[in-house]
Amino acid sequence: MQIGIIGTGYVGLPTGVGLAELGHKVICIDRELSKIEKLQRGEVTLFEDGLEELLKKNLKNGNISFTTSMQEGVAGADIVLIAVGTPPHPVTKEADMKYVHAAATELAQYLDGYTVIATKSTVPVGTGDDIEMLISKRNPEAKFDVVSLPEFLREGFAVYDFFNPDRIVIGTDSDKAKEVLTELYKPFAEKSRILFVKRRSSETIKYASNAFLAMKIHYINEMADFCEKAHADIDEVAKGMGLDSRIGNKFLNPGPGYGGSCFPKDTHAMYFMAKQNGVELTLIDAAIKGNEKRKQNIAEKIIAKVSNVKNAKIAVLGLAFKGGTDDCRESPAMEIITELLKSEMKIIAYDPKGMANAKELLDDKICYADDMYSVAHGADILVILTEWDDFKSYDLSRIASTMRTKNIFDTRNLLNCDIANKLGFSYCRIGN
Ligand code: NAD
Repeated sequence: MQIGIIGTGYVGLPTGVGLAELGHKVICIDRELSKIEKLQRGEVTLFEDGLEELLKKNLKNGNISFTTSMQEGVAGADIVLIAVGTPPHPVTKEADMKYVHAAATELAQYLDGYTVIATKSTVPVGTGDDIEMLISKRNPEAKFDVVSLPEFLREGFAVYDFFNPDRIVIGTDSDKAKEVLTELYKPFAEKSRILFVKRRSSETIKYASNAFLAMKIHYINEMADFCEKAHADIDEVAKGMGLDSRIGNKFLNPGPGYGGSCFPKDTHAMYFMAKQNGVELTLIDAAIKGNEKRKQNIAEKIIAKVSNVKNAKIAVLGLAFKGGTDDCRESPAMEIITELLKSEMKIIAYDPKGMANAKELLDDKICYADDMYSVAHGADILVILTEWDDFKSYDLSRIASTMRTKNIFDTRNLLNCDIANKLGFSYCRIGN
């Protein structure tokens, strides 16, 4: 099949590369020329395990190409995927649809023959109707169906998730579109559940899922707060809870709050969307407010653990919003650091992949270390903010004599408490 993909970000790029690997002819479109030029050279514009190899392979065999031209990507395509951003509106926090609407309006004029327009972006319920209207208005002759095709990949596992989706949700009532997408997802038919639903149900499934996961994280964080007061251990509590198959053991890791480019914006968008429909989502509201407060609370706890705040040097391990990605958008680390900077503390940080993106957000307000051990040199406290695998095997004996104060705040509960204590560290973790 010939597939055009609009937007080459964290969703569009792995999806495009994955579809090319399956043998489709994929043309990825992005309006950022510098991104397109890099991708044309076979250089990835974001970090995802295994992505670069597949990109290079499929560039070489001609299955994937990159362009800034909408016409090149859309004309003649069987399927056009919209994978542009839907950021929160700065004031209302509803999903800002300007990129989706612009893409729909722009692509309309280049449609030729029957085309399935599938929305991979996370969009409010009813967006499919809006896209349909925008396209018909711009090109009344166009033959097309608009389908909701929400994306469930996890950043850090995007390539794996592309080839091993646990479910594929397809929102459409059109038999013709169903036929095209059944063909597209044929390679997954045996191992994944393919669910055909109404377009509006599909749009809602994505928000309802993300909001649920965000609430699960918020729940375990509140339980961690309780454990701290009640002298229980959240790791033991989470393990005991997770053994119940009705609860499941995923998303029960306490931490500094959820972040990233999806959960914060999607909880807000879901709340806003429900309110517009006259429904008050009180659980989501509580998660949003609690999660925002949490990052402030963590910053306060860090400050409380440092004796001389004015001259304190804080070493931070982890800037990305989670391990396995370079994405720092809405990362708890960014917000906690911003909070700490108000106290004029000196901050030095290290992240295996996220430092370039963090620099764009924080400029030179903090310093950056070359590796995960030198970051602790002369520090008054070492704070772990991202759950990178590398940090789990952190050798504390290597920093025991280089820190000014042997002080650790592990907000991801990665390190071994007994080892830390034996080496003379004051070791603090979440929910214990
Ligand atoms: P992103 O910001 O990384 O990428 C979006 C890309 O679209 C950018 O490169 C931008 O230049 C391009 N773009 C915007 N308007 C364009 C236009 N008119 N023509 C061509 N290119 C255009 O965003 P993302 O993280 O990939 O997210 C995309 C959507 O997918 C969002 O709605 C998001 O909520 C959803 N989503 C994201 C994830 C994730 O893990 N990041 C997972 C599931 C769903």
